[in-house]
Amino acid sequence: MKKALLDQLTEWAGTRFSQPTVRFVDNYLDNGFCAQCRLCCGPQIGDAPYPMALLESQVTAKTPETFYLLDARTACLDERGCKALGPKGCTLSRPERPPACGLFPLVVMDGALYLYRICPASLFIPMVTWLSIAQKARDWLLGLPLADQKRISIHLPNDLLLERYSPLYLRLFSE
Ligand code: SF4
Ligand code: SF4
Repeated sequence: MKKALLDQLTEWAGTRFSQPTVRFVDNYLDNGFCAQCRLCCGPQIGDAPYPMALLESQVTAKTPETFYLLDARTACLDERGCKALGPKGCTLSRPERPPACGLFPLVVMDGALYLYRICPASLFIPMVTWLSIAQKARDWLLGLPLADQKRISIHLPNDLLLERYSPLYLRLFSE
């Protein structure tokens, strides 16, 4: 972990009552920790490419220019980072971003919602608040076509799942 991020985590820990907030609004997770954290979107070290499925409605002729792709409808984040990342952050409007970006650190895995634990927001926001946020996210996800829900859902090896993610016991669909 970079020293700057460690310093920021220490500062947040010491200012408990003025920490950033997180809420699910307009179908996106508005995460006040991201601006100073910026762990996501940049080059990822050591892991397999992280899949970020696009909704059917997001796939256009420009998709290959915009994203590094795993397949025609699945963007990815890998050791190059995300192709849509510019010098001042994401170059895409929120509706153009893969759903995974608007959910993280909530992750749909094997049809259910999980919380990525190694995120400052996950560390500082109480689990009871995450459950409430995750219920709103699930309501939105359940409004998508089942085919999109299934494409957004990822699968990870069990050791990674146990090491990095907490189950929220909110299911979208059965496998
Ligand atoms: S790790 Fe969490 S706080 Fe940091 S950029 Fe990603 S979602 Fe935002
Ligand atoms: S689309 Fe934007 S928000 Fe999503 S990973 Fe790429 S740069 Fe980050």
